[in-house]
Amino acid sequence: MGLTRSSTGQKLTVFRKTKPEQACKTVALVGNPNVGKSTLFNALTGLKQHTGNWTGKTVENAEGFCVHRGVRYRFVDMPGTYSLSANSPEEQIAVDYLCSGQADAVVIVCDACALERTLLLAVQLIRKAPNAIVCVNLLDEARKRGLTIDLARLSERLGVPVVGTSARSKNGILPLLDAVEAVCAGKSPPVPSCDSTSPADDTGADFRVLEAIVADCIRTEPVRHVLDREVPDRLLSKRWISLPIGAALLFVVFWLTLVGANYPSMWLSNLLFRLQTVLQQGMDLLHAPAWLSGILLDGMYRTLAWVVSVMLPPMAIFFPLFTLMEDAGLLPRIAFQADKRFAACHACGKQALTICMGFGCNAAGVVGCRIIASKRERLIAILTNAMVPCNGRFPSLISVIVVLFLACNLPDAGGFASALVLSGIVLFAIVLTMCASWLLGHTLLRGVPSSYVLEIPPFRRPQIGKVLVRSLLDRTLYVLGRAAAVAAPCGALLWLLANCTIGDQHILPVLTGFLDPAGRTFGLDGTMLLAFLLGSPANEIVLPIAYMIYQNSAILTEPAGNAALAAAFFAGGWTWKTAVCFLIFAVLHWPCTTTLWTIRRETKSLGYTVLSALLPTAFGLLLCLLFTTVCRILGV
Ligand code: GDP
Repeated sequence: MGLTRSSTGQKLTVFRKTKPEQACKTVALVGNPNVGKSTLFNALTGLKQHTGNWTGKTVENAEGFCVHRGVRYRFVDMPGTYSLSANSPEEQIAVDYLCSGQADAVVIVCDACALERTLLLAVQLIRKAPNAIVCVNLLDEARKRGLTIDLARLSERLGVPVVGTSARSKNGILPLLDAVEAVCAGKSPPVPSCDSTSPADDTGADFRVLEAIVADCIRTEPVRHVLDREVPDRLLSKRWISLPIGAALLFVVFWLTLVGANYPSMWLSNLLFRLQTVLQQGMDLLHAPAWLSGILLDGMYRTLAWVVSVMLPPMAIFFPLFTLMEDAGLLPRIAFQADKRFAACHACGKQALTICMGFGCNAAGVVGCRIIASKRERLIAILTNAMVPCNGRFPSLISVIVVLFLACNLPDAGGFASALVLSGIVLFAIVLTMCASWLLGHTLLRGVPSSYVLEIPPFRRPQIGKVLVRSLLDRTLYVLGRAAAVAAPCGALLWLLANCTIGDQHILPVLTGFLDPAGRTFGLDGTMLLAFLLGSPANEIVLPIAYMIYQNSAILTEPAGNAALAAAFFAGGWTWKTAVCFLIFAVLHWPCTTTLWTIRRETKSLGYTVLSALLPTAFGLLLCLLFTTVCRILGV
């Protein structure tokens, strides 16, 4: 094992050194963000590293292997780096690793369409890493724009081997592997001159050198028929166009999720709950004691079945749609538009991206905050991330919106009205996140907003097939697996609480009774507070727990649709006001345990972890209190 330290002396990461017996060459893939490193990494190793058309989604090193002409190579996909003057911890990791000389070859990936900018890192690195290879990727896009790059000339001018690739269509992979082989074996052909060697590190001088190199190696031809990609960008740069388009897209995604998830959810729950009968028969055959089948089937299995049937369909719709927007290049444009507003909150515009990630999963959003270079702004983004509802909370929100419509006797117009309300809730959550960021940015985390580089990638046609498969496997099943892992033990605990007694009283009602006065102060009740507490491991089980307690049942039961759910809640004393308070608190309460654990890991501070739980909870309770007080004053 080798340990690298940043220039500040802070411990950063541990890199595994190749054991001698492993006869394996290490190759680092490095380059600016969004030049296609992960796509290239996947093409080389056959792995499925997440790719996306925006800057900063690779925040950790990924490793993969490939055998070429009998030699085993280990490829390390590094986080995106603009230059050797590292600006963020991730860039520092990449720079430290590259300068440590641990890699047998360093492949510097550049964008053929933005050669001058993306070659800067190559020019700087070639001086420190003589075993470098420059890979000019996205040649297909360059060709479409009428750009021809003289790779041999570029190699001559840079003094290192240069290979051209189109990673998306796996073109040029073999020549790249041949170049890697030659460099690793020390057989790289000597290249005559090296324009890139300037005496000292001087970015200005480097750019001047680059300008000359690129002018010498690129030929531009007029293109007869090419889609003017700048038109959509020019349109989207106008706030009065981009904001309604963003809101409309959000609405369409939610509406499709809402409408599309209903039937598959029903089929899945029928199937899974029917399977329980079969499993019960198996337990009976084995003469399992009642308490064991109670914990395993009524506790763990039922909770699991609920989580899967409620979560899987909306996620299987939401994640692919979200990934399509990501792959097309919409996310950085959102960040660009949001920048002014976040700067006004003394936060960073890139927070808009971490918020978008939070819609999928808050834990993923918290890890994604690493793309924010300033520590102060990163902390603001981390502490407020859980204020936007994650995918696990959407099913509860959707069900309670339907309950709200029923309580008010309002028609839903085929899910249209619910989707509108849900979009409103999401916008409200974003506004509150900004308020909380403003509060932190003006008090505890005071400071001036930093300047940063935000690269707007070109609009790209999303790879629909790949997006569907990857978003299903990487995101949907990953989030579902994690939720299931926490839901199962939680189900067992729930069963114990519902079935065990203290004296002659069941524990669950005792607990709800204890919490009831506190709950009622905020327009909720003891049952809901307990459901939120017990649902901490996975937000998606909050509603089933509340339903179970209202039903006075000893096991989680599936309501026959939202009408049955509403009937149980109304019988438990709900009104439309309770539904509103539930919606507020479902958005604004402590993060789930996985997110809290991630925050602890990212901030390395127990204090900030506690604050990240207190902040949304305080906002939620205050808003609930405000709402109930206003209702009381108005006599509603
Ligand atoms: P990274 O940030 O450098 O890891 O970049 P990614 O591998 O995530 O790629 C960024 C975007 O460029 C994605 O939308 C890819 O599908 C796209 N991309 C990558 N390589 C190519 C290529 O050779 N041709 C085209 N047309 N698109 C590519």
